[in-house]
Amino acid sequence: MSKQKKQVLITFDYELFLGNRSGSVDDCLIKPTNQILDVIEKHGERAIFFIDTTHLLTLEKYAEKYDACSNDLETVSAHIASISKRGHEIFPHLHPHWLDAEYLPQTNEWKLTDTDKYRFFHLNENERELIFTGSVELLNKFIKPHNPEYILDGYRAGGWCIQPFSAFEPYFKKHKIKYDFSVLGKFYLFSNAQYFDFSEAPEKSVYHFQNDIVKENDKGLFTELNISSVFIPKNVQFLNKIFQKFYFKLTGDHSFNRGEGQIAVKIDPSIVKPTTHGYDILNSNWERVAIELMSQIKMPVYKKFIQEQDYMHFISHPKMLTQHNIRMFDNFLSYAGSRYEIETDFRKMV
Ligand SMILES: [Zn+2]
Repeated sequence: MSKQKKQVLITFDYELFLGNRSGSVDDCLIKPTNQILDVIEKHGERAIFFIDTTHLLTLEKYAEKYDACSNDLETVSAHIASISKRGHEIFPHLHPHWLDAEYLPQTNEWKLTDTDKYRFFHLNENERELIFTGSVELLNKFIKPHNPEYILDGYRAGGWCIQPFSAFEPYFKKHKIKYDFSVLGKFYLFSNAQYFDFSEAPEKSVYHFQNDIVKENDKGLFTELNISSVFIPKNVQFLNKIFQKFYFKLTGDHSFNRGEGQIAVKIDPSIVKPTTHGYDILNSNWERVAIELMSQIKMPVYKKFIQEQDYMHFISHPKMLTQHNIRMFDNFLSYAGSRYEIETDFRKMV
């Protein structure tokens, strides 16, 4: 009997911490990425890496003045080339507030607390062109020498801030980007930095759109691959918290040693009114499907998900992965692979 088919999209945002303290290239990018890639490849699967190219453009800018920046740029570009050579997809992922990043030469880290330019929408045309076109050119420069046929036709917005899509549309067209991976269906957040509202997004894994990213348009030029979310019951959340606390006490295995991310401050709901039926990303029993959120406690929820759904889109971050998370994902792929025929190539899902 042939196995039932399941689509499992394994994606990563390849980035440093984007708040008070960025952490290092080695701890946040190189080491955890290599570890998780070994697991993914052991199971014969493929992944997509959304590269925070705004980080790399900033390194380029500082490379002449600081040797450490020049070295980091070299390390990361070689790493991206190696990920690509291993057969995984590489696409851009922009965090525009890198434009206002402050370099900390003592520790070779960055401080990204100025969030005025967090959203691409808030940039002027020159800045948009500079970082979008610069990002596409930079990635092509890393990949094309060994893979001249590579098509860079996917994108994921930093912090899910892809709205209004009209700000992106000209750049998608200019660079022939057809696939977007930014929508986390049903969730919303209105914060001091981030703004997104996907509460009206089609409840579909894949759909076409044109100028409004949450409006399905069969004739639309672009394709959305919706990020999956999972319901975590209150008792599981509670047990998971206790487990995390003890596991960290015993092992010290936690990402918060590496850097400090951005802290979202919600806008007063009386100013921006949240929708009634969406999920508040900061306060919901629903959460995105992510390797860094997996644990022994949540394993049954993840197994149930793949039993019931044909499409599972993971959004994970190497910087946040613990050894426990990596083991859990290894177990999960073993479980899924033994029961189902797994497809991880997004081009076979669209
Ligand atoms: Zn990001």
